[in-house]
Amino acid sequence: MTTLQGRILTAQGWMTGAISFDRHIHSMERRMGVSDAKTIIPGFIDLHVHGGQGADVMEGLQAIGQLARWHAGHGTTSLLATTMSASVPELKQVLSNIHEASQMPHAGGARVLGAHLEGPFINRNKRGAHPLIPMNEDPSRDILDLCDSDIVRVITLAPETIQNRSVLNKLASRGIRVQLGHSTSSYEEATAALQQGASGFTHLFNAMSGLHHRDPGMVGAAFAQAEYAEIIPDLFHVHRGAMLAAFRAIPKLYCVTDASAASGMPDGTYPLGCQKVFKCPNGVCLEDGTIAGSILTMDQALKNLLEIGLDLEDAIRRLSLYPAEYLGLKDRGRLQVGAFADLIVLDANGQLEQVYGEGVAIEPSHG
Ligand SMILES: [Zn+2]
Repeated sequence: MTTLQGRILTAQGWMTGAISFDRHIHSMERRMGVSDAKTIIPGFIDLHVHGGQGADVMEGLQAIGQLARWHAGHGTTSLLATTMSASVPELKQVLSNIHEASQMPHAGGARVLGAHLEGPFINRNKRGAHPLIPMNEDPSRDILDLCDSDIVRVITLAPETIQNRSVLNKLASRGIRVQLGHSTSSYEEATAALQQGASGFTHLFNAMSGLHHRDPGMVGAAFAQAEYAEIIPDLFHVHRGAMLAAFRAIPKLYCVTDASAASGMPDGTYPLGCQKVFKCPNGVCLEDGTIAGSILTMDQALKNLLEIGLDLEDAIRRLSLYPAEYLGLKDRGRLQVGAFADLIVLDANGQLEQVYGEGVAIEPSHG
C-alpha cells in the first residue's frame, strides 16, 4: 500500500490530507498539518492518440506498448489507441493488436482502454492527413463489421458518407460513441446525425465546416447542442479565442492530444499510418503544409489551459473526468475510494513529479 499526502483533488473538490492505494484507491482522509506543497490529481485520459516517441498505433503491438509508456511519462494513465484510414482487413488486424494491448498486465504504460476508429468513413475533401481509401457506396456494413468487437469505444465518421443512417443508432446502442468529424456537413445535417445517435465531435474546429452566422456548419451544431466534444489544445490547431468560446459553449468539452509518432522526437520525417509527416517546432505537417496531427502531450495541455485562463480544477476535469464520463467509466478520471489508482503528483511549481497508473509508479519524462 502506498500513502501520499498533499492537496488532493477529490470528486467533491479540494481536500488537504492523505490518499492510500494499491491498484485501487483504498482510503482518502483529511489530515491536519499536512503541507499542501504537493498537488495530487487524477491521471489524464486521452481519447485520441495515434502515436508517440517514434511509434504509431498502426505498426503493431510493440509500437502500441511503446507509445503508451511514453505518454504515461507525461501523465496519461489511460488512452484510446487511434487508427488512421486503412482497408477493412488492415484495420481488423490493428484492432486485434489494440485488443491484445488492452489485455496486457500493467507494465508502466498508459492503460489502453480500447480503440478510436478514425477513418476511413470520412469526407475525402476534409480528410487532413488520412490517406484516400476506396469505399463502398454505402459503407454501413463495413462499419458494423469493424465495430463488432467491443474494443471500439469511439468512431469518427462524416455523416454525409453514410446513406443508411440507422447504423448510427446501432453503434450507439452497443455503447460506441459516434463522433462527427472530417466532414463538410451543414448545421442541419450534423443536427440530424445527433438525433440519429451521434454524441460527440472530433477535434472541434479542425477538418469540419466552420461557423458562419448564416451558415453555422458543424461547429455551430456543436456549439448549439453538444454536451461533449474533443479539442486539441496545443495553441496551434485552434486559436485561444476560439478555444475560450468553445469552453463557454460546450459544457464538457474535453481535451485530446491527437499526438502522432513525431511527438517526443527531434524535427524530421515520421510515419502516420501509411503517410509520411514532417515534424516542425509547432506540430506535424504533410508535404503540402496540411496540419497532420500534433506533438502535444497531456501535461503540456494542462499548462496551455492554465495559460489561456482556465482555473486548475476546471482544466483538470477537461483532461480526466469528462473523458471518463463520456466513455461511461465510473472507476477512472476521478480520485475516490474504489477507483483505479491513476494519479499524478505535481510539485510546488506545477511540474509532474510522479505518475501512478493502476498504482504502478511511472517516472515522468521531461521533453
Ligand atoms: Zn483527425
